[in-house]
This record gives sequence, C-alpha cells and structure tokens, in this order.
Amino acid sequence: MVDANAGKLARWLRMMGYDAVFFANGEDAEMISRALKENRILITRDSHIAERWVATSGRLRVVLLESDQPEKQIRQVISELGLDSHFEPFSRCLECNQPLEAREKEAVKTKVPPYVYRIQTSFLECPACGRVYWRGTHWEAMRRRLEKFFTVDHQH
Ligand SMILES: [Zn+2]
Repeated sequence: MVDANAGKLARWLRMMGYDAVFFANGEDAEMISRALKENRILITRDSHIAERWVATSGRLRVVLLESDQPEKQIRQVISELGLDSHFEPFSRCLECNQPLEAREKEAVKTKVPPYVYRIQTSFLECPACGRVYWRGTHWEAMRRRLEKFFTVDHQH
C-alpha cells in the first residue's frame, strides 16, 4: 500500500507486476487498518506512521522512504523488500492495479491506433478501466528504466 505522499511508486510497482494499492486520500488510521486487513506492506514518507506502535511492534510492516526522489524511492523499496528482478512487467494496469487480461488482436481493433493494430500482435486489456496495453517502444523504454533500478547505483 503506497501512501499519498509517494504516489509515483505505485505505478512503478505495478509496472513490475506487484499488487500496489495507492491510498490517495483519507485518514492515516484508515490506511493502516486497510493495510492490516489486506495483509499489505505500507510504504510511506511519513515518519510518524513508522513510529506508531503498530509499526514498531512489527504488526504492520512499514517501509519509511528516505528520499523525495521517485528513482531513489524505488531503489530503496527494491532493496528493503528484496524485490525480484525477474518481475513480470505489464501484468497489472498502471492506473487501477487490476491484473491485465490477454486479448485477441481482433478484439482490440477499435481501441488502438491503426498503426499499432497493424504492427503489434499481442495485446493486454484492463478488465476494470478498459485500457489496452501493447509492447511498443514506450513499453520497451519503461522496461529498460525498470532494469536500471536493479543495477548498482554508483552514486552511493
Ligand atoms: Zn485499469
């Protein structure tokens, strides 16, 4: 569960195929109880949450982000949670976290630009919001950025 103060992380985690709920607004207590109920790890920039008993006692696992920069945050989460580099990119919708479903080419004909329909062969669709995903150049660029997060950061 990603706190509102670390919004970009949710999309990166989904890109890697992880189930990442973004808690956009609401009380801390509500966020914490939902994380407990759904057995989630809470990722936040808020040190007050990390200092709460529920976190210090180990009942709720909290990752307290050290940086404001999304790239540093994702590196911290990868190393702290030991995330696997053999992730499955684009198995979840980046917008709503739903697992994507494979679609026949014909089924998405009216939902993608004509040139994409011509050159792409495999498509995925979000059953919740209807967004269609394919492995185009944008996909490749994001995959390369993701892979970089799993390499050693030479700035440290
Ligand atoms: Zn969606």
